[in-house]
Order: sequence, then C-alpha cells, then structure tokens
Amino acid sequence: MSAIRHALTTKREDDFAAWYQEVISAADLAEESGVRGCMVIKPWGYGIWERIQRLMDDRIKAAGVQNCYFPIFIPLGNFTREAEHVEGFAKEMAVVTHHRLIADGKGGLIPDPEARLEEPLVVRPTSETIIGDAMARWIQSWRDLPLLTNQWANVVRWEMRTRMFLRTSEFLWQEGHTAHATREDALAETHRALEMYRACAEEDLALPVIAGEKPENERFPGAVETWSIEAMMQDGKALQAGTSHYLGTNFAHAAGIQYQDKEGGQQYCHTTSWGVSTRLIGGIIMVHGDDDGLRVPPAIAPHQIVIIPMLREAPEDAALLAYCDELKQMLLRETALGEKLRVLLDSTPGKAAAKRWDWVRKGAPIIVEVGPRDMADGKVAVLQRVSLWNVENGKPAFQFLGREDFAGQAGQMLEYTQQALYNEARERRDANITRGITSMDVVADHFADGVKYPGWVEVQWSKPTGAALDKVVEQLKALKLTIRNVPLGGAPADGACIFTGDAAVERIFLARAY
Ligand code: AMP
Repeated sequence: MSAIRHALTTKREDDFAAWYQEVISAADLAEESGVRGCMVIKPWGYGIWERIQRLMDDRIKAAGVQNCYFPIFIPLGNFTREAEHVEGFAKEMAVVTHHRLIADGKGGLIPDPEARLEEPLVVRPTSETIIGDAMARWIQSWRDLPLLTNQWANVVRWEMRTRMFLRTSEFLWQEGHTAHATREDALAETHRALEMYRACAEEDLALPVIAGEKPENERFPGAVETWSIEAMMQDGKALQAGTSHYLGTNFAHAAGIQYQDKEGGQQYCHTTSWGVSTRLIGGIIMVHGDDDGLRVPPAIAPHQIVIIPMLREAPEDAALLAYCDELKQMLLRETALGEKLRVLLDSTPGKAAAKRWDWVRKGAPIIVEVGPRDMADGKVAVLQRVSLWNVENGKPAFQFLGREDFAGQAGQMLEYTQQALYNEARERRDANITRGITSMDVVADHFADGVKYPGWVEVQWSKPTGAALDKVVEQLKALKLTIRNVPLGGAPADGACIFTGDAAVERIFLARAY
C-alpha cells in the first residue's frame, strides 16, 4: 500500500492551531485584514455564512420572530443604565468621540476639538440597550406582547486575544430580542431559541452540541440566566457555539419597558436575547476539517457538487463542456435535504487535478471529474469528500458511474455525507467525555501537561454561589479549565460535590475552551 499524501502540509495531530490557520487559507475562507482582530471573509467563507444565515433565518421566522435593523451607534448613556451590563462590556467597547478631523499642521489629521460629540457613541457590542428603547416605545399594553424581534448585523468587541472566526473584534451575527408579559413566557422563549440553536447546529451544521445552563460566573452581563450550546472540537476543547439569555426585568427597568396588564396596572416586561455568530464557521472547521482541508456539510455548502471537465484548450473541449452542462442540468432537477441541489460547473482554466485539490481543500462534498474517455463511455468519475482515499492503494477513491446513474444517486450521497459527518463528530465527542471522576486530584491528572486531547469531564457539584463559586473558578483556572454548562436533561446528581464534599445537586462539564 503506498502512503497517502495529504493535501495540507500541517497535520492535526502535529499542531492543531497551525492546522486550523492552514485550513482557513487553503480553503480560501478568510484572511487577516491588517486591522487588529478584523478579518476579510472571502467568497467561499462568506458563502458558508450565507447558507447558515438562510437556514437559521428560516427557523427564526418560523417562530414568528420578525427582522429589524437598529443603529450601529449606541449613546454611552444607554449602557450606564444597567450596571452589570456596562461593567461587563466596558473593557471591550469602541467609542466614537468626534465627528470631524482637522489638519495637525504636520501633514496629518487629528480629531477636531470643536467637533467633540456631546455624548460619546459606542459601536454596538450587542444591542439590548438600544432595542430596549424601541421596545419601551412600541409596547403599551398586554396586547403588544410578546414582541419578537431579531437583527442580522455586525458587532464590535475589542477582544485582546483574537483568532479568525472564533474570536474577532468585529463579527457578524444575529441577535434575537424579545419582550414578554411574564417570567414563564420569557423563559419559554429562552428555551425555544436554545432548542432552535441545537437543531440548527445538529441538523444543518452536523455539529453535535450539548445544550445547558451556564454557571453564574459565565452569565451574560445583566442576564438572570444564560444557556448555551457547547461543541467539542477535534482537540477536545469546547466551543461555546451559541447563547440564549433570560434577562428578567433588568433591561426593562433600565429602559422603562412597561405594559398595561388586563387589570389596568403597569408591569415591567421580561426580556430575552439570543445570538450565534461567524464563530460557528470556526467550529465547523475544527469539528469537520481533516488533514486534507475543510469538509463542508452539504446543507451549508455553497456548492454541493463541483463538476470539473478535463479541458485541453482544444476544439474537443466544446463537446466535453456540453456533456458536463447536461449533467449539471440533470443534477439541478434533483433535491437533497429538502432543497434543490447546488451545482458548480468549474470551467476555469487550469489542470483538472490542481482544481480537484483546490475543491478538496475547500471541502466541497462531491467532486466530479469528466475526461474525454469518460464522455465516450457515458460515465463520470465521482469523488466523495468524506471518503476521499482508497485505503487499499492510497489513491483518490474515484467511483466511475454512468452519468444518469450518478445524477439519480447524488441527492442520496449528499444526505449520506451530512449524516456521516454528524455521526463521526458525535462518536468522537462521546468517546472523549469522561464520567465518574469524584476527586479534583484525578481531574488534575486527567488534564496534566502533556496529556493530549483530554476532552471533557462530567462531574457533580453543589452549585456554590458568590465567594464559594469564585474559589471554584480560581481552582479550575489553575488547571486552565472552565465550567461549560449544566446539561439539559442530564442524569440527576447522586453523589458528593467534587469541590466541597457537600451533597451534589447537578452535573457539570469541565473542559478547556476556545
Ligand atoms: P453573547 O452576546 O456574549 O451571548 O454572544 C453571543 C454569541 O456570539 C456567543 O455565543 C458566541 O458564539 C458569539 N461570540 C461572542 N464573542 C465573539 C467574538 N469575539 N467573535 C466571534 N463570536 C463571538
């Protein structure tokens, strides 16, 4: 058996962080912009984001939530009305203080002292405080509730440690903001959004996730409860892939969001907010990528099938292109995962093999190569990204299929790929969760230096709060660990708290995280 040569130079097991960066450039997803923490998202990366947007937006609208758009600039005073919120975001806020520049006399420009804004404007890091103002205007009576809004936007958080897609200073996201008459209604919405994220992650992105509640120290600033979906990357680290917050009446008090109830009394609304961002693309890379590059789940692949004719820059090319275009037309009549297939006929100049490897690195689910001989036989050569290599001979595992046969099977192949990516990720995650550890010494050994890919551990705890929780967080920090969440629907506690020895009340996941 000849050795398989992979399409990337870095292997995951040699240097996972360098591999991640290599996938981003080899798959042509994004590049550094020269502005700290801000990236340029290139067509293939943006195409994946547009697919995620589309599928998530359908789910958002199906729940009766309507899209709006709010300003990027938020008056500073909006933030100071909610003490915890401003404290949480103060360190990360970009602020506009002037609206004009003047010459500095040395050939440069400086902010014009005459053009100082009366009130500084914050570049939105999140929009609770400005949407809260709108809610206060829009809601008068119980008839106006629930108010269900969402916006797709960019936000800015001045992050100190940035990494492409996972943590950037500017990122793209959706933020849902809802107002309700009662705590019960708002909690139900918090859980609906969480479940929507779980379903989108698992069904559309093929990312297995664990939905659960964040501990008090990880709550969104100003929230009463924060819930998350957590995914395990191939290096065993956790990624918070989405969050849903129950905000109580905190933001309603800050912005005066009140309604008149059926008895004529004034009540404060209970609000929620929930968001997912371009971070999801980082999760897709680190869950589905392999040593040959990215593997994009078909549901979010901008092109699910790429047809590459073996062009020779000769007159015969015309017939080959026509044969490939007929295949494309046949495929466009087929469906997979409830949608019409998305097919690209890549007739750009260049060697077919070089183009094939570009599409392998980009992770197109199916690549079809067609040469004059295939055409003469009425066939096509099909390569599936999830089974790229022939393990017998170490060569790309082409299947030679009749053109019509392939067109008829393509939808099933894509559905198989979607499921295969999910199953692989799910099996790996489940195999890397360790349960039953009852002492912190064992946890420390589990995560000792040099242990590769320790994964997550599930332990039991007594849910300490305040100073007692701070102590736990410090203890975990020394091991570079964080509490991920308290899984929804997890087994009840039946032992002692790993930190205090008191009776445990619930189970939590501990992990290193991005
Ligand atoms: P939050 O408003 O803090 O709950 O954030 C909502 C979601 O945005 C989180 O669950 C993350 O997935 C994502 N997110 C937060 N900060 C960043 C960042 N700096 N870069 C990319 N995504 C982020």
